[in-house]
Amino acid sequence: MKIKVAKFGGTSMADAQAITRSADIVKADPARRYVVVSAPGKRFSQDIKVTDLLYECYHKLEMDGNFDSSFEKIRERFMVIADELRPDLDMEACLDEVREGMYKYGSIEYFASRGEYLSGRIMAAHLGFAFVDASEVIVFTAGGEFDAASTRAKLKKKLSGVKYAVIPGFYGADESGLIHTFSRGGSDITGALIAEAINAELYENWTDVNGFLTADPRIVEHPAGIKELSYRELRELAYMGANVLHPESIFPVRAGGIPINIRNTFEPDNKGTMIVPEITDSRKGTITGVAGKKGYSIIYIEKSMMNSEIGFARKVLSVLEYYNIGFEHMPSGIDTLSIVVADSEIAGRESVLLDKIQKTVNPDHVDIKNGISLIATVGHGMSFKPGTAAKLCTALATAGVNIRMIDQGSSEMNIIVGVATEDYEKAVRAIYKEFE
Ligand code: ASP
Repeated sequence: MKIKVAKFGGTSMADAQAITRSADIVKADPARRYVVVSAPGKRFSQDIKVTDLLYECYHKLEMDGNFDSSFEKIRERFMVIADELRPDLDMEACLDEVREGMYKYGSIEYFASRGEYLSGRIMAAHLGFAFVDASEVIVFTAGGEFDAASTRAKLKKKLSGVKYAVIPGFYGADESGLIHTFSRGGSDITGALIAEAINAELYENWTDVNGFLTADPRIVEHPAGIKELSYRELRELAYMGANVLHPESIFPVRAGGIPINIRNTFEPDNKGTMIVPEITDSRKGTITGVAGKKGYSIIYIEKSMMNSEIGFARKVLSVLEYYNIGFEHMPSGIDTLSIVVADSEIAGRESVLLDKIQKTVNPDHVDIKNGISLIATVGHGMSFKPGTAAKLCTALATAGVNIRMIDQGSSEMNIIVGVATEDYEKAVRAIYKEFE
């Protein structure tokens, strides 16, 4: 039988009502055999996620040697859920065990992981599925590095003997049993790892939105949803700020060629976004989406005859490497070189950086232009299609936006433009409208 892995995010686990919806989704399809859960997230916009309450407990322990008042908030959230869903589950005992463990093990990662642990226990009881603790199947080294090969082997072995199971997301353990976590939002990674290990037919990621949108809804009014997205398009859009899925969760499923379906727990009839190795959608020929980020600067270097000076760019990059500065793009001309960097990379080091570049390559001019935003226009559909860049540039010109930098990858699946940050929203709207 085909197997689906279904992962439910924080809002899908936020309270008894949301958990009931999530459980109903699982029960509606017997192929949904392995369920991965996040800790309860926000019930309303000012609410605090359980994981944040757990971090609060850890910091209280560090400061005052005691976290009881914060732990009471966690206890209350879980007790309300359990009372409504599973009065037969001894939730008080589970919470006492967690509280004792927090004092006993005391590591920040142990604290952070307990939200997923408890939410997994409740979901397993509610569904009547086995509870498989992530500490048994998700393996980290003692140094806290994720161990892919051991994880795959353990998951295969364990799940071959369990037909239906709930597995908490976000954490795992090393050989000695010490808990380690992925970075925030890491339950997405757990789901992807399980899907790959058991060679699932589909990895369903249930969240609170109808998948990816063609543009940021805070900038463009009612942007269309994206029905189908390739892994590569997803990487580009996610990198530029479309945050629906943890970026590291793509690699395991991509390696196994397993599609990911982003779905909305609160609108289960919506088909969401399907992320696939190759686009099959008839949408081919248009762009897939527009995404962008503020907070960049351009290091602009001018030197006559730069193009005939072998090693020029390497020397400039060695300066960035020296200061451990990553860069985003590096468009160049015959006598100019522009390097786009995130403001956070160069903050507080601008003058030393300029000085060092001056000494290293002796340019005619070097400066840093701040206040740049980057916008990526992404889509396989634009490859080998004459006129895409022209349309984009015309749209920006018509909107009165000056392009400060433009870069098209040779894969021809994205065009990046840098614009002044005050033009950012206007530029996104103009591009969206042009390709709508
Ligand atoms: N609960 C964790 C977080 O808030 C992990 C997750 O939800 O994926 O980051």
